[in-house]
Amino acid sequence: MKKQVAVIGLGRFGISVASTLYAMGHDVLAVDRSESKIQSIASEVTHAVQADATNETILKELGLSNFEVAIVAIGTDIKSSVLSTILLKRLGIPHVIARANDNLHGSILGKIGADVVTYPEREMGTRIAQGVTLAEVSDYMSVVPGYGVAKLAAQPYLVGEKLSDLGFGYKGKWEVAVFLIQRGDEVIVTPTPGQKIEAGDILVLAGSNDNLEKLLAEAKKNKKEE
Ligand code: ADP
Repeated sequence: MKKQVAVIGLGRFGISVASTLYAMGHDVLAVDRSESKIQSIASEVTHAVQADATNETILKELGLSNFEVAIVAIGTDIKSSVLSTILLKRLGIPHVIARANDNLHGSILGKIGADVVTYPEREMGTRIAQGVTLAEVSDYMSVVPGYGVAKLAAQPYLVGEKLSDLGFGYKGKWEVAVFLIQRGDEVIVTPTPGQKIEAGDILVLAGSNDNLEKLLAEAKKNKKEE
């Protein structure tokens, strides 16, 4: 569903968030106090406005009280990050995501009302580290610490087998749930234990990182034996 999202502060993180949200089809208002930043992002967002995000009057004039989501992407200037987060909450934006540099910055943002505090450098580091161990599971995404969702292309030794016989699902040996199977244009949502895997299927799995890694190691072993 299309949302109205404001991105405040167009450093490397803000630009990446703003342009991705716009490419996903959302209405994106990008705000930065630097004119050059505004010029460089103008063609990649719905509106780009040069303004000081710590000025309440300006934020009101920009209509920010009607936005559903705001992302405060300012990192270095902690005063600006804190003040704009307070003002955006005060304007009634229901979901304010604020970027923190470190724990102290993050705990301040949480206390003044940010709905979500994000640590981009730290999260990217974790993703890259998990990407090393979960390298062969495509599209791994961490969901809660230690647990994630991953896509696995059906390998030949899985084809023709039932999910339950392969040890997936409730009380299965993997403790990994297959919750979607993509089969060409079709998507099978919450497949039954009796569902058989076909060649070309993509399995979408959820489980602990440890179990996803074990499953992967087994898949690798089977691949060699084929
Ligand atoms: P990154 O590490 O992602 O590059 P920075 O913290 O260096 O992020 O960049 C933050 C951006 O936020 C800069 O483009 C800066 O001009 C902008 N910014 C900082 N303070 C304000 C403010 N009060 N109002 C609007 N933009 C701001």
